[in-house]
Amino acid sequence: MKTNLWENYQNRENLEEFCKGYKVFLSDCKTERECVSFAVKQAEKHGFKNLEKLMKTGKKLKAGDKVYAVNMSKNLLTFVVGKEPLENGINMVGAHVDSPRLDFKAKPFFESQGFCMIDTHYYGGIKKYQWTSQPLAVHGVIVKKDGKKIDVVFGENDGPVLSISDLLPHLDRNGTKEIKGEDLNLIAGNTPDGKAKEKKFKSYILNLLKAKGVEEEDFFSAELEVVPAGRARDCGLDGSMILGYGQDDRVCAYTGLMAILETENPKYSVMNLLVDKEEIGSVGATGMESRFFENTIAEIMNLCGQYSELALRRALKNSRMLSSDVTAAVDPNYADAFNVETDAHFAKGISFNKFTGSRGKSGANDANPEFIARLRNCLDTAKVAYQATEMGKVDQGGGGTIAYIMAKYGMDVIDAGVPVLNMHAPWEITSKIDVYETYRAYKAFYDLK
Ligand code: MN
Ligand code: MN
Repeated sequence: MKTNLWENYQNRENLEEFCKGYKVFLSDCKTERECVSFAVKQAEKHGFKNLEKLMKTGKKLKAGDKVYAVNMSKNLLTFVVGKEPLENGINMVGAHVDSPRLDFKAKPFFESQGFCMIDTHYYGGIKKYQWTSQPLAVHGVIVKKDGKKIDVVFGENDGPVLSISDLLPHLDRNGTKEIKGEDLNLIAGNTPDGKAKEKKFKSYILNLLKAKGVEEEDFFSAELEVVPAGRARDCGLDGSMILGYGQDDRVCAYTGLMAILETENPKYSVMNLLVDKEEIGSVGATGMESRFFENTIAEIMNLCGQYSELALRRALKNSRMLSSDVTAAVDPNYADAFNVETDAHFAKGISFNKFTGSRGKSGANDANPEFIARLRNCLDTAKVAYQATEMGKVDQGGGGTIAYIMAKYGMDVIDAGVPVLNMHAPWEITSKIDVYETYRAYKAFYDLK
């Protein structure tokens, strides 16, 4: 087993600088849309051009050109054209920007016991009790019938937050009260509307919303995500870690994005993909299963003057991909769930899972040793720290990523990402050194020869 990287680390200053930027990203970007809009701004700053606009001008793409394409504000593909023909494959890094949370229902407001409440439906794999008695914020959009979009951020900074109550221990002696999905209701207010004949508490809140131009019916055409309120911060007496919401998988989204932004004139074309809906099976128009990825590559090949149906298939088949997703780090409080010899540890670098899946690797992409050998060579040459890992004891549980979906094209894929403590909890923990080594790994991979 490699030693803890902090023992003799050369890149400390760069690492702190990098993680500062990462914490700002985590704090400001708590929804898919916020992540994509952040990434688009960064891409434009680094000379990436909007693909749709280019298509309209009829301009051609050549080696060294940089483009980006957005899908429904929740899915982003950034691309740098390489010197080699696209048929020879693309070096791809793909992460997901959706994270477990609670979503507003389409008819969220109801009244109970003198309170106005907000009804939610959780998204992704959560332990429900973790979302009670927490300061919570709401991020998202409300779209009015006329198409006007209202951006919502409530509960950050110094103003009020929202919260979900939990039963006091005095009335739950054994601590066994199970929190059901339907119990996850936010307390929205406790002020009655004196003029209302009934539902005074709901009426008071609806009046507040009306003053901001929002009607109750508008919540049908809204996408409002309830997330932990507050900013990401350093963690530990030594400050060696980061505590923040949504690090699964925004840590891989950020590191992959930063890596492609700094990639100039690559040999092979390079691509970074930020997808949605991974936490619920990669379904839907903005998930990895959607055709957005394939269609966008086709459009890029077209602008490069290299498109044909066959050339597209060859480009995808000959590609190499890091399915960049987090993995579970060995947790000292729950070491029993892990095989401490074979699972990921903090401060040992980017973690490669040759396979994921569960019950005998079901649902796993199993990376080819020929590809892994190439990666080892690439990372060793770039002096990047990495670990070869699994996730938890055999038959303990498991999980999936977008890897198997990309593998359908016949390309080489492996899961690679940052080890995380208490993954899917409202606040997740990573090691700064792993965050930085992951960024360095993606950079080296974009240069893969
Ligand atoms: Mn993930
Ligand atoms: Mn996840």
